[in-house]
Amino acid sequence: MFRKILIANRGEIACRVMRTAQRLGIATIAVYSDADADALHVAMADAAWRIGPAPARQSYLDAAAIVAAAVASGAEAVHPGYGFLSENADFAAACAEAGLVFIGPPPAAIRAMGSKAAAKTLMQQAGVPLVPGYHGAAQDAATLAAAAAKIGYPVLIKASAGGGGKGMRIVERAENFAAALAGARGEAASAFGDDRVLIEKYLTRPRHIEIQLFADSHGGVLHLFERDCSIQRRHQKVIEEAPAPGLAPAMRAAMGEAAVAAARAVGYIGAGTVEFIVEDGAFYFMEMNTRLQVEHAVSEMITGQDLVEWQLRVAAGEALPLDQSALRMRGHAIEARLYAEDPARDFLPSIGTLRHLREPAVSAHVRIDTGVRAGDRIGIHYDPMIAKLIVWDADRAGAIRRLASALAQYEIGGLRNNLALLRAIAAHPGFAAGGVDTGFLARHPALLTPPEAAVPRFVLGAAALIVLTLRAEAAARAAAASADPHNPWAGSDGWRLNLPAMQSVWLGETILTASPLAAGGWRLSHAADAMEIGGGRLSSDADTAWRVRVDGAQRTVSALIEPAALEVFMDGEAWRLRLPDPLAPGDERITDGGRICAPIPATVRRVLVAAGDAVTRGQALLVLEAMKMELTLTAPTDGTIAALRAVVGQLVSEGEELVELEAVA
Ligand code: ADP
Repeated sequence: MFRKILIANRGEIACRVMRTAQRLGIATIAVYSDADADALHVAMADAAWRIGPAPARQSYLDAAAIVAAAVASGAEAVHPGYGFLSENADFAAACAEAGLVFIGPPPAAIRAMGSKAAAKTLMQQAGVPLVPGYHGAAQDAATLAAAAAKIGYPVLIKASAGGGGKGMRIVERAENFAAALAGARGEAASAFGDDRVLIEKYLTRPRHIEIQLFADSHGGVLHLFERDCSIQRRHQKVIEEAPAPGLAPAMRAAMGEAAVAAARAVGYIGAGTVEFIVEDGAFYFMEMNTRLQVEHAVSEMITGQDLVEWQLRVAAGEALPLDQSALRMRGHAIEARLYAEDPARDFLPSIGTLRHLREPAVSAHVRIDTGVRAGDRIGIHYDPMIAKLIVWDADRAGAIRRLASALAQYEIGGLRNNLALLRAIAAHPGFAAGGVDTGFLARHPALLTPPEAAVPRFVLGAAALIVLTLRAEAAARAAAASADPHNPWAGSDGWRLNLPAMQSVWLGETILTASPLAAGGWRLSHAADAMEIGGGRLSSDADTAWRVRVDGAQRTVSALIEPAALEVFMDGEAWRLRLPDPLAPGDERITDGGRICAPIPATVRRVLVAAGDAVTRGQALLVLEAMKMELTLTAPTDGTIAALRAVVGQLVSEGEELVELEAVA
């Protein structure tokens, strides 16, 4: 076994790999970009090496810098994690040339599976079923259109070099084919530097079911059952589970055998995943991922195995630790991906500081894989994932219950996030029924924008308690600092001569009146309602946790206190209440339609117009990229481009004006 490894990655996967290495007594070397100098994965490692500035291209994708760090640090092997260089055959080869073991498959296997079209040809030869389609070498528009007609609409155009849903277009009718092809090619060329495409029959109600594979260098190949990843948004996974609900044992066995055949066909070694699409009792090969997947944890939970340990053992030349017949599935596991993104705004990534973070308690039933702590920044350069929450129970219903309760304990403050969406899915009867297809979220758009609910009475009481306590603390500090600390006139706690000390508490649009109770606490009144509140800071977590009593009910809540707002966390929901300052100016944003600004920090990818151009409402002007996502800015009105302040490759900050549009009168 290795004595020291370098982890060529960041975030949760770097931390996850290090946990296993540390358990096995292997020293760990982290690499980091300037944006990550204080990141959790750097703190966790035995030593860390800087590999470059924040942009991934100049750091986590810089193969030479990473190999140099590995050699200089004395590492014997390199674990690539997922994403970044994990499926880069040249990087795997560069490691070998430098005398380092690449903890992954041989470069030839990565290359064979790197092109979806070439992989399909190989799989066809190995007898693995394919979705009806075209993956030939001829790429002229006429050949492709004829292939689409032969397959029958609807069809799906995919970038052969694709990944992350880029360069994918659904085409419903023949007359839309040419435009869709041009779009897919353009996106593929800019994302992968390769505009080749393939065409598949577009299945309308498919499930995404994938098989976890493992192979060693002694000819051993086996699978660790399947994962169902059908809960997706824009063709990207949100929730994954194992086993797949309702999958017949015969089908599981057939899919496992097909995946093993796929691995043998390319001389595979290490961890890999064969992705299938399943519809009407049939399964079809989609692609093979030649690395550990984000969702590997659910397979670990149901098999009781540590797949990173397997990877290390196999890379060190050992045989697979178990035979296929010794592997058993036990219980049910579900993973939910927590992202800093706004489901209601088309999953726009949210950038900023994770001002408040409270995680559910970890147990045999609840696992959290994360790479961030409270106070960390989610930046523009990398994936906005906050954490993976993985739950396990004896059966699926139990696992869903665990998922719902763990999500209800999660608190994320300071960034928009998808907790509410995950909770809504966990509570949905369609999800509980099991076996949903990949169109589930698209068919239930209401899950993305939960209705605005009235602030619960308990939350109002808690918020008022916090405001009143903060005021009392400020008054005590002011009095202590004054020349006459016992002078009641110097305080600002609502004390009035000969009258009960009444105070107003403004919470958003609501104004409550508070008067102190002799026994401590306050009596709050609001319209016709009245309640008695009490409690205070919990000494165990003085910054955020409060014990609150509202009439007869008591519980603990968390709060994030900002200058003009208060966020109260309760039952997995966050309630943001403005604390209006009557002297502050209005906070309305300038919504001048003539100025088009960057909604988030991003890189300008394409500029589609020039100064002086006439444009029509809805026309695409610029394409920005932030955290692996493309964002198109369009003209809000008809007009002329008066000024253009964006150039390709430029980094722009939130709110930065990019285009000035002169509207036609
Ligand atoms: P990428 O590599 O870009 O992630 P994949 O080929 O893995 O693309 O496909 C991603 C997702 O797109 C799948 O999980 C599935 O939801 C959907 N998909 C792919 N192929 C088809 C198809 N032929 N019909 C319907 N949906 C598909």
